[in-house]
Amino acid sequence: MSKVITSINELETRQIGHKLADLLPNGTVVLLQGDLGAGKTTLVRGVAEALGITEKITSPTFNIMKLYLKGKKVLVHIDAYRLEDNNADIGLEEFIGTERGLTFIEWPNYIKDMIPDNHVSINIHNIGENKREITITGIDYD
Ligand code: ADP
Ligand code: MG
Repeated sequence: MSKVITSINELETRQIGHKLADLLPNGTVVLLQGDLGAGKTTLVRGVAEALGITEKITSPTFNIMKLYLKGKKVLVHIDAYRLEDNNADIGLEEFIGTERGLTFIEWPNYIKDMIPDNHVSINIHNIGENKREITITGIDYD
């Protein structure tokens, strides 16, 4: 089943993140799909806010992965963009799907082999100016 939501500004996208932070059980892996600037990192920022993580959430593009340990749940934030198809063995698998918290992955196609079959998919599509069509698949999101 899929749920489609239209977000009209950055706050609404962060609020989806707030809801996911509460809704998703530990161990969940969320794949974030969408072009550059779609709002993937913005949504993760919302998740972090709701978890009480006070560190700034920046795009981990240049780090590949960031791990936030101080919130209500651990947050693993991966951005595989820079890996492209060089499936470098850098130990990401140890963190993906951690039972201590939630894993959000931008550009998951670049690390296909590391993605568990059981995951949530979120697709963000820029439909003009600040509007985004956000499709959530793999959980009951009302
Ligand atoms: P990505 O991680 O997908 O590359 P970012 O979250 O880094 O994208 O950037 C999204 C950009 O789009 C930000 O500058 C944000 O302020 C802007 N934006 C405008 N409207 C929205 C919206 N409805 N939802 C999310 N981001 C939005
Ligand atoms: Mg990003």
